[in-house]
Amino acid sequence: MPSAQRREAPRGQAIAERAARVIPGGVNSSTRYIGEPYAFTGADGAYVTDADGRRYLDYHAAFGAILLGHNAPVVNDAVRAALGGLDLVGIGVTEPEVELAERIVDIIPSAESMIATMSGSEATAQAIRLARAATGRELIVKFQGGFHGWHDAVARNVISAPDKAYGRDPLSEGILAQAIDATLIAEFNDLGSVAELFDRHPERVAAVILEPIPHNVGALLPTQEFVEGLRALTRERGAVLIFDEVITGFRHALGGYQQVVGVTPDLTTFGKGMANGFPIGGVAGRRELMERFNGRTGDVLLAGTFNGNPVGCAAALATIGHLQANPDFYTRTHALGARMRDGLAAIAAELGIEATVAGFGGVFALYFAKAPVLGYRDLMRNNDAAYVAFHRGMTERGFLMLPMALKRNHVSGAHTEQEIDATLEAAREVLAGLR
Ligand code: PLP
Repeated sequence: MPSAQRREAPRGQAIAERAARVIPGGVNSSTRYIGEPYAFTGADGAYVTDADGRRYLDYHAAFGAILLGHNAPVVNDAVRAALGGLDLVGIGVTEPEVELAERIVDIIPSAESMIATMSGSEATAQAIRLARAATGRELIVKFQGGFHGWHDAVARNVISAPDKAYGRDPLSEGILAQAIDATLIAEFNDLGSVAELFDRHPERVAAVILEPIPHNVGALLPTQEFVEGLRALTRERGAVLIFDEVITGFRHALGGYQQVVGVTPDLTTFGKGMANGFPIGGVAGRRELMERFNGRTGDVLLAGTFNGNPVGCAAALATIGHLQANPDFYTRTHALGARMRDGLAAIAAELGIEATVAGFGGVFALYFAKAPVLGYRDLMRNNDAAYVAFHRGMTERGFLMLPMALKRNHVSGAHTEQEIDATLEAAREVLAGLR
């Protein structure tokens, strides 16, 4: 269980101060700054330890990159075994790369072949460029609230202020205006909003990209009708359907969320949990499309010095191998996720708090908004201040939940039923204080 919380953090403070002098903002990815100095020095199973020795039960899971639990021996041993062997040559191919692609082709419904990248952003950038090349079209459709990485084609309209939602809301300065304007914004679970974009831009939409469950705004569950409708619509209009399974992949089912809904996209992107915290990403899909990456016969550039590096491959093979050998990972995490969601819903009802518990598998989010929560429009009714206060209160008690509006939480393979129950007990206290 988490250790008793202390207010003082002298070592963390000192590290954060050093960081602020040499790293802009003191962190290497802007959403890692949560208003207070946090510096971590250790991780093990379901726990992380900060520089001042406080132990936190981790539901943040490195934005979802930790799947089996921190420092999972099965993964770390495989990485250790890979070290000291072949590191990097950069000509030809290595066996682990082949084995990884074979494994992905075996288990992911949409995968006929696969390329490895170093991150999820690289995967979505490659998938989008491929879709543009294959269709000869320029426009991309994404959904308000969906996040697909930091690059120009997708860095817009994630968590938007009400006056910016559905409008022009880039995440950054420095993006070419043409790149921003080539990405159109639709509403999740609203097929009509997508059809309208196709109608407004006939034969100009190259791809529709979506997180099958938009976990970057908690957990909006897609209706079956919506996902099937997207499949039919993209096929009918000659556009590529891309499932960005960087979060949902391997976490919700071995074959990804596409296996759960039984809808097969043209391309799928991966990253995060695929290698349990080690850097790797990938794109998989229909052979005819993927062959455009073929350096001899295709026309889409595939390049990357570290693509298919031995550490990422070893970690991914070990993670996926573990999931294949232990299908109870899914029954366990789904049951623990359900226990958490049911528990939170019961506490909110008992305390008379207007809330909607959302999630799938081991992922959960507590929206401070009345049901139904189906699309981003519904999230605009969320009480963001309460959401952040809940996560902050939990983190202060040693249950690490990113204190930002709409951020999801993850149950990993290392969490236990007792820890879920202890979390619920703390949640009751925090929620009671919010009334
Ligand atoms: N796609 C989704 C759904 C993500 O959540 C993220 C990262 O949060 C990305 C893509 C980008 O992945 P990476 O941070 O590895 O570049």
